[in-house]
Amino acid sequence: MFAPLGFARGKSGYARPNYVRLDEWARANVFSVRWLEHDRTLEMDGNGARLIFNVDSRSDARKAQINGVRVWLAFPVLLQNGRALISQTDLAETIGPILRPPGNSPGIKVKTICIDPGHGGNDPGYQVGSNDEKKYTLLLAQEVRAQLKTAGFKVVLTRTTDVKIPLEERPDVARRAGADLFISLHFNASETARNEVKGTEIFCCSPAGATSTNARGEGDTRWVVGNRYDEKNALLAYEMQKSYVKNLDVEDRGMKRARFEVLREATMPAILIEGGFMSHPAEGKKIYDPAYRKQMAHAIVEGVLAYKRAVRG
Ligand SMILES: [Zn+2]
Repeated sequence: MFAPLGFARGKSGYARPNYVRLDEWARANVFSVRWLEHDRTLEMDGNGARLIFNVDSRSDARKAQINGVRVWLAFPVLLQNGRALISQTDLAETIGPILRPPGNSPGIKVKTICIDPGHGGNDPGYQVGSNDEKKYTLLLAQEVRAQLKTAGFKVVLTRTTDVKIPLEERPDVARRAGADLFISLHFNASETARNEVKGTEIFCCSPAGATSTNARGEGDTRWVVGNRYDEKNALLAYEMQKSYVKNLDVEDRGMKRARFEVLREATMPAILIEGGFMSHPAEGKKIYDPAYRKQMAHAIVEGVLAYKRAVRG
């Protein structure tokens, strides 16, 4: 999106981007629209795709679904005089690239993948009992590397041992290796509801003007280097979330946005995978299990392949 967007701080705390009527956009793009629940849930069907929007601000009107996969919009859908309004940012940088993937330039291949095992050294990441996140991100990265190589990709890891690599250096490893994609691996933990919260969420960089999904309208919204690839970031995050949900029995926490340093500084399409909650007793056990990590690595490779097909690279 090169058109300047006029921002004004709304009552909700969200910077207010330009909004358009969802029904008009749907008509122009040959989607049929109907309420699944009046003034609450809106469904759009067409072009082989099914989109569901939660329009009810009481349960977060950024929650959407595209072809069965949860997607968090950068801005909430608004309901005004019975009509749903959607931000142009989301049309251009969330829904657009997922429904009509941006193609690579001719001859530009998706060939080299940089895998970034989160944390390391004196930064253990989350710790649940005697289990450090840094250990399992590295073990998963090694498995992903093996499977990506088998699938014909070149692979570079930001670390191969238990060392601390500063965050800002990680995208730089990818850049120096000429990587086409940057994929950071993490596991989650919940401090408040240890036994209940589980599932996978995949982050890409928040578009300019938008905050992180979990910040709900608060905090930084400036343009960052990672925004150069907004469309491909969204596509990669979506395809990866879809692959996780399709290939593994995980709860779909959705494609989200965040201004994590590794995503802000990336000079190629980049995502950060939160592969599951170590703090959930059953999910934790799976993360510590090499057989399950093999399946997870398979889902990651499938996500990369789906992205590669979509961009025709
Ligand atoms: Zn982490």
